[in-house]
Amino acid sequence: MSLDCLACGACCAYSESWPAFLGSRDGEGIPDELIDFDHGRMLCHGNRCSALVGELGSRAQCSVYDNRPLVCREFQPGSEDCIMVRRQFKLDPGFGGNAAAV
Ligand code: SF4
Ligand code: SF4
Repeated sequence: MSLDCLACGACCAYSESWPAFLGSRDGEGIPDELIDFDHGRMLCHGNRCSALVGELGSRAQCSVYDNRPLVCREFQPGSEDCIMVRRQFKLDPGFGGNAAAV
């Protein structure tokens, strides 16, 4: 996989419902101010996860990477969903382009 998630971040800004807490330990180690307790997920500003730092599409990073929720851990760079969200942000689908990271 050649995609560079650290130059992307698209999946972390695609939908406020995306970073939901589905794993039994999701939320552990994550600061309260980054959690949407009412909905059981990461707090988002618009569609962007509050833990995403940097600039989408050029230099992005998850500020809670070691404690990121299960759904984030399981998301596969280069997967159909990855390519779909990258296209949504008009980023190269990922084959030799300026891909992303998290
Ligand atoms: S390359 Fe894919 S998995 Fe990585 S941050 Fe971008 S959309 Fe997410
Ligand atoms: S990987 Fe990090 S920044 Fe991206 S959605 Fe998950 S918690 Fe948020």
